[in-house]
Amino acid sequence: MDRPGNGAEVVKSDQEWRQELTPEEYQVLRQAGTERAFTGEYWDTRQEGVYSCRACGAELFTSSEKFDSHCGWPSFFAPLAEGRVRYLRDSTLGMERVEVRCASCDSHLGHVFEGEGYDTPTDQRYCINSVSLKLRPTE
Ligand SMILES: [Zn+2]
Repeated sequence: MDRPGNGAEVVKSDQEWRQELTPEEYQVLRQAGTERAFTGEYWDTRQEGVYSCRACGAELFTSSEKFDSHCGWPSFFAPLAEGRVRYLRDSTLGMERVEVRCASCDSHLGHVFEGEGYDTPTDQRYCINSVSLKLRPTE
C-alpha cells in the first residue's frame, strides 16, 4: 500500500519484508493492522527495559514511559525521544486518528490519543501493538 521510502532510513521491498517478518508481524507493521486487544505479548508487561522496533531494531519506547491504560495494548505516554517516531493522519474506519510509525523504517506501530484523562505527564496514550515491538529487558 505504501510506496517505499517516505524519508525512512531502512528501505526494503515488500517482498523482503514478507520474508523477514512473520505473517502477523507483516500484517501489523507493513499493512497497518491491529492485533486483538489483550492478546499481545506486552500489554501487561511491567518488565523494565527498552522497546525496539520489531522490523528494524530502532529503539522507540522505554518502560519508564509505559503505563497501565487497561486498553489491551502496550501504552506509553511518550516515545523514547522525539524523532524516533513519525505521525500520520489516519481517517480510516470513520475515525480521525493519528497513526504512529517508526521513523527509521516507516513501519506501522499503532496510534496516539490525547486528552483522555490518564494521570500521566503528557495525557497522551501511544497505543502500540505488541507485535510491532521487541522488549530488551534491563539487566
Ligand atoms: Zn523500524
